[in-house]
Amino acid sequence: MTIDEAPRDVLRGGPRELLRWVATGAAVSRADLSRLSGLSPSTVSQRVEALINQGLLEETGAGRSRGGRRPRQLAVPTGGAVVGAIDLGAHHARVGTLDLSGRVVQARTLPVRIEDGPEAVLGALLAEVTTLVGGDPAAGGSVSGALRGIGIGIPGPVQHATGRIVSPSRMPGWNGFDVAAFCAGRVDVPVIVDNDANLMALGAHRTTHSELDHAIYIKAGTGIGSGVISSGRLHRGAQGSAGDISHCRVVADPAPPCTCGNAGCLEAVASGAALVTALRGQGVPVSDLTGVIRLIDDGDRQATALARQAGRAVGEILAVVVNFFNPQVVAIGGRLADCEPLLASMRATLYERCLPLATQTLLIERVAAGQDVGITGAAHLVIDHVVAAA
Ligand SMILES: [Zn+2]
Repeated sequence: MTIDEAPRDVLRGGPRELLRWVATGAAVSRADLSRLSGLSPSTVSQRVEALINQGLLEETGAGRSRGGRRPRQLAVPTGGAVVGAIDLGAHHARVGTLDLSGRVVQARTLPVRIEDGPEAVLGALLAEVTTLVGGDPAAGGSVSGALRGIGIGIPGPVQHATGRIVSPSRMPGWNGFDVAAFCAGRVDVPVIVDNDANLMALGAHRTTHSELDHAIYIKAGTGIGSGVISSGRLHRGAQGSAGDISHCRVVADPAPPCTCGNAGCLEAVASGAALVTALRGQGVPVSDLTGVIRLIDDGDRQATALARQAGRAVGEILAVVVNFFNPQVVAIGGRLADCEPLLASMRATLYERCLPLATQTLLIERVAAGQDVGITGAAHLVIDHVVAAA
């Protein structure tokens, strides 16, 4: 065993991992769990009982007999909407309910005006979660009854320990807002807050790359950020800002001013908001990111050149990240991930600037998990919290 493998090994057979093996179908019985974890049957039974008592696992009749008593089968309760999730964006929010296996039960997209401020926006989205849970008969119609918690993704920096938003770009009125405290006054279940890139990373890793230990997920939409999976776990760093590449400086001439007060930040060059600003500066009448993407799809010369420049800028920063961190996969999600010229120049810059050893087996992909990746990550945050509490 190398030192690298140690952190995962320590977790082996923990309640979260037992639950995941059952949720993914890798295990259907206590015997399976004992075999996979290497733990003794009595230890596994103890942990399984605790998970059953918490309602996180259930027994579903008898499995196939191999002679002797038929073993009871284990399953993660499904069908009931028990986790609420909100993935807040600059103009839209994805709101959903998910079951304990992380499967989406219901989800809808709502228009959002972030400038209306945190009380109005979060108040409306929490009400929407309540409505969704109430509309699900399996949840019993009561938020406090079946709901185990709510996970919320914010498109800006979140101090992880407190759930407070710190110096977000393009979110007037949100700086310093205590999301966790605001929500605690409105719902009586745990509310866990994180930034949207971390939730995308967690959702994508759990659904697509759970076998990989080291991964970087870039979220490129109106803003730009990334989430880091290290040794199989979301890496937040000391305060929660790990992976926030938005204000890393890139080569740009002239260096456009950034909302943070500096110039030439990645966000000021390569984010969706930056592309809108740059095109407008060139006299192209475009109002939002949707308009920019349409121009790029239509092969517009100015928009395509800007997308290539943005891809090079993302690639420059990513090359530093890849050389430093040596991930197995770099995946890009968010609305700009479908922008082919951006992706192509990002990929070329990465290969040009990285150590051969770092790119030899590196996967460079689009995030494949779809529009529910953020709420899936939010739900997994809550599920992990519930399991840890159990
Ligand atoms: Zn900046």
